[in-house]
Amino acid sequence: MSGFPRACVLGWPVSQSRSPLIHNHWLATYGLAGGYERAEIAPAEFESFVRGLGGAGFVGGNVTVPHKEAAFRLVDEADASAADLGAVNTLWFEDGRLVGGNTDGVGFVANLDEAAPGWEGERKLAAVIGAGGAARAVVHALGTRGFERVAVVNRTREKAEAIAPLAGRAGVAGGLDDLWRFLPDADLVVNATSLGMAGKGALEVHLGELPERAVATDLIYVPLETPFLADARARGLRTVDGLGMLLHQAAPGFERWFGVRPDVTPELRALVVADIGG
Ligand code: NDP
Repeated sequence: MSGFPRACVLGWPVSQSRSPLIHNHWLATYGLAGGYERAEIAPAEFESFVRGLGGAGFVGGNVTVPHKEAAFRLVDEADASAADLGAVNTLWFEDGRLVGGNTDGVGFVANLDEAAPGWEGERKLAAVIGAGGAARAVVHALGTRGFERVAVVNRTREKAEAIAPLAGRAGVAGGLDDLWRFLPDADLVVNATSLGMAGKGALEVHLGELPERAVATDLIYVPLETPFLADARARGLRTVDGLGMLLHQAAPGFERWFGVRPDVTPELRALVVADIGG
């Protein structure tokens, strides 16, 4: 076992993860001895891998699809976000106890704060399209930002209804066909579906009802500009891609494992953009 701290990303598959690139860049930038690696773990082996994490010399790790809910069930303690969401994306140890946190919402908000200051506008309404795992974290985070309404619309309406309460009393739900009703009040519109990713079809929605002040953001970062963002930009709206969310959600874990709060710099962004091929 090596003497320096090691962390990993646990996923299945995990070859697509940019987390090693991000964390190893920070380790080099801050001159820290440490390592960050991929751990491709099938669901059947996930529990035993997590139970052996400390024994294998890891100080913690990130958890990605499909393991976030399973990780929540295995931790000794969860932070407030992970407890509300029932999903963990960051693991670390405290006094020998395995702790799980969820930094997806923090990353989402930090990205908007950085790339589109004042994005909350009049705080009348934030519209979230999609109701999968990523949307859950986004809806939960938006619920803490004082919007009068956080509207969740999804192809499968029942899933939107199930997650809207994560925004507290501000949460309302609808089907994709209801989006146009919400857009005239929207300060923010989020694509949290997987549509628009390279190799997938585009999200077909009409943004014409949005006010000029609205900000449009996508969680997808391959490509950096999705058809959804290109449409919003063509309408003169401010747009924010999903890469900043990925970078910002990584920072709290790095600080837990290696003791330095890392900066999300243009240099790091350029490194990941080059890896994506953007
Ligand atoms: P899920 O598979 O959990 O959810 C997918 C969502 O997309 C669901 O709401 C689903 O609707 C909707 N959807 C899929 N296909 C269609 C379709 N043909 N028509 C309409 N809606 C559709 O995915 P995640 O929530 O985990 O991820 C969503 C996206 O966010 C991914 O592209 C992922 O890469 C990205 N992401 C980015 C992060 C970042 O850091 N930037 C972090 C996490 C995720 P339905 O419920 O009806 O099936």
